[in-house]
Amino acid sequence: MTCLNNTSYSQIMLYQNHSRSFKENRYVYPVLSRRSKGISVGINLNPDKVCNFNCIYCQVDRNGSAPGISVDISQICRELAETLEMIKTGEIFLIPPFDKVPPELRHISDIAISGDGEPTMFPGFYEVVKEVLKIKEEWEERGHFPLVLITNSTGLNRPKVQDAIDLIYKNNGEVWLKLDAGSEDFHKKVSGSDIPLKVIIQNIKSVAIRHPVVIQSCFFRIDNSPFPISEIEDYCLLLKEIVESGGKIRLIQIYTVARPPREDYVSPLSQNELNFIADKVHELTNIPTEIYP
Ligand code: SF4
Repeated sequence: MTCLNNTSYSQIMLYQNHSRSFKENRYVYPVLSRRSKGISVGINLNPDKVCNFNCIYCQVDRNGSAPGISVDISQICRELAETLEMIKTGEIFLIPPFDKVPPELRHISDIAISGDGEPTMFPGFYEVVKEVLKIKEEWEERGHFPLVLITNSTGLNRPKVQDAIDLIYKNNGEVWLKLDAGSEDFHKKVSGSDIPLKVIIQNIKSVAIRHPVVIQSCFFRIDNSPFPISEIEDYCLLLKEIVESGGKIRLIQIYTVARPPREDYVSPLSQNELNFIADKVHELTNIPTEIYP
């Protein structure tokens, strides 16, 4: 288990600042990312702030939610090219809060398709991936960084999304998949969704059998109680089921809430509690874990 917590207070404040606002951009936002260990250039495919989950720990500010806003792929490409250029030339590090980024982290670590909702819900998802990969290819001589998809795993059974994922891996990218529960009841409670956990697991398998994936899992206190141990054990059984069916899991990222969650009865776990969960998960599954306190 690795703990990525070697940070000063000012760095922690920077890491917690995952604002989707950057300049006049509508879609593209750079953040200092602990998980990717540098500047992650995010692409928000859900400017309408609509998600098919309603997680109790969600840290997206849904004020100003406006269902039905269209997504302009050519604007995404323009914003992406300009933002990459600003990072590469160092111009961004003259602007707060990026002026506080330590020198060793002043590089592009990845382009991450995520957003204020589930990115694969956007009908033009495949086209976005194709266009973003073209820009990445144009940048190959100036730096190598992967394209990462961060997803709640609900849309992975759609053929066009699967094609996009194959394209991402063909270009040395990766998919980070959310899994936050071990039982149907807990999944329903945490995700606020009627999409069954067994569908999520089936979807994760469909990708993990073809490509090595990263699992992202959020653990937290509910009503100030520790995370239920039985839920952790059930969660590990699901991970083992994925592996036994031929799925490859490269890493499990274990984190907790870092910004105000949707429900005020949800609160963060301590580093010791995350360490305990990571050790337990590693012991029961033998898959590498990293924690993000
Ligand atoms: S899937 Fe992500 S964006 Fe959607 S509600 Fe859950 S945490 Fe929020």
